Amino acid sequence: MAIVRCVNCNHRMSDKAPACPSCGYQRGVASQPELTEETHYKKRRERLYRLTMLSYVALTVFLIGAIWYLMDSAWLSRGASAWSKYLLAVGMLGYFVLRVMMIYIRRQSR
Ligand SMILES: [Zn+2]
Repeated sequence: MAIVRCVNCNHRMSDKAPACPSCGYQRGVASQPELTEETHYKKRRERLYRLTMLSYVALTVFLIGAIWYLMDSAWLSRGASAWSKYLLAVGMLGYFVLRVMMIYIRRQSR
């Protein structure tokens, strides 16, 4: 029996103990390849989730730009303001870039 240090809290523990007595961190439960694969999968899912959220933000920016543009065109005879066109362009571009990134990440996993 040897004394090792917990990788999580650095508490001293027996190398035979299945879990750290101080923090409950479980050693050697998941084999190394499984762990990395799971971490990789989790990271990819988190990234996809973040990109999905960002694409909704981009879509919202686009919609605000579109509404602004339409309101300007309908109510003001001087035409749409440059800012509404700017929002439209940024929203649309952002949305498409994020969508392409998501497709790319999804394809990587296969
Ligand atoms: Zn610990």
